[in-house]
Amino acid sequence: MNPKVDHDLCIGCGVCADICPDVFEIRDDGLAHVKDGADCEAADCCQQAADECPTEAISL
Ligand code: SF4
Repeated sequence: MNPKVDHDLCIGCGVCADICPDVFEIRDDGLAHVKDGADCEAADCCQQAADECPTEAISL
């Protein structure tokens, strides 16, 4: 899995970072970013984060 956040869609709600803090973080621009070295397989929460994102900004 190669998670990506579409910043044209992200509204910075923080849901992904709450669900999957090992992979997603809200940065100074107010938008979600994939952490450096993030490992969806190890974290096992990327799919849930993508499913819960209200704007479907996360692709895997
Ligand atoms: Fe952005 Fe979606 Fe994460 Fe909310 S859940 S911060 S809209 S990527």
